[in-house]
Amino acid sequence: MSADDVCRGQCLCGAVRIELRGAHDTGVAVCHCYRCQRWSGGLYATFNAPAAGVTVIGDVARYAAPPLAERAFCPVCGSNLWLRDHTEGAQYELIAGIFPGASGFPLKSEIYVDQAPSYAPLRGDHPRQTAAEYEATNPSVEGDAP
Ligand SMILES: [Zn+2]
Ligand SMILES: [Zn+2]
Repeated sequence: MSADDVCRGQCLCGAVRIELRGAHDTGVAVCHCYRCQRWSGGLYATFNAPAAGVTVIGDVARYAAPPLAERAFCPVCGSNLWLRDHTEGAQYELIAGIFPGASGFPLKSEIYVDQAPSYAPLRGDHPRQTAAEYEATNPSVEGDAP
């Protein structure tokens, strides 16, 4: 994708639209932790984009996921939009399913594989980490309680 292209996404009802400009990840990461399963209703699949390239159009509801992150969703239809640290300028972890252009992105990683539901195993040779492996190098942003 060139820098001039705009990648567009929207919630189910269209009240929230998101435009991406410039470089962003073109691979999808899946997190199977209990929090992400509960929030997404199943498969939590996202890709990262720098804050500077993200334009959000429409009102967004935010759940302050304790202690360090927010989870945003459409207040009208409930579509999940992103997870993001509260840190100023933090990148967006965007829900892949609201961007039609992301449907062709390859799966690049799975984390919390030891908490993954058995009903949807994911194929491929991408890196996989258990909760312990992931948390050994990444501080948990929301605490460990399922
Ligand atoms: Zn909506
Ligand atoms: Zn998670």
